[in-house]
Amino acid sequence: MVVLLLVSLAVLMPSLLVRGVVARLVPGVMFCAPTREPLLALTIDDGPGPGSDALLDLLRRLNVRASFFVIGSHLERNPGFVARALEEGHEVGNHLWRDGRAAGLSKADFLRQLLATERAIQQAAPSGWAALRWFRPGGGWFHPAMPQLHNGNEFRCEPRHRP
Ligand SMILES: [Zn+2]
Repeated sequence: MVVLLLVSLAVLMPSLLVRGVVARLVPGVMFCAPTREPLLALTIDDGPGPGSDALLDLLRRLNVRASFFVIGSHLERNPGFVARALEEGHEVGNHLWRDGRAAGLSKADFLRQLLATERAIQQAAPSGWAALRWFRPGGGWFHPAMPQLHNGNEFRCEPRHRP
């Protein structure tokens, strides 16, 4: 009966399932934020890529801000991306060194990728930038090491938002 209820919620009202059940099970993870206004958070993963500068141009023209969850190894392709995005009012988060399913990594590899990407973001950021230290796991699933990161408040985790 409980399984049927959860399946029904997932199919018919995924937002309610995430806010009402999943978010309570993992309180250190942000799934959504309460607002009084109808707002939409625009998040973009896996960059920077070939179209990232054109996307920044478009967002600037539209006066829209976004959150970019970057792949650390991709920053070598476009070293100026982080500074430009931050200077234009966007947020930059950590999406590990390589694109892939974060939950399948060993704890050591997960932490190595997380910290290497964080260093790359910090080095690319303009001086004086206060790091938000957001993290989004590749594939949208948690890694068992993530709760330890939250205990020290070093990172905030945002899985892919699907509702
Ligand atoms: Zn990704």
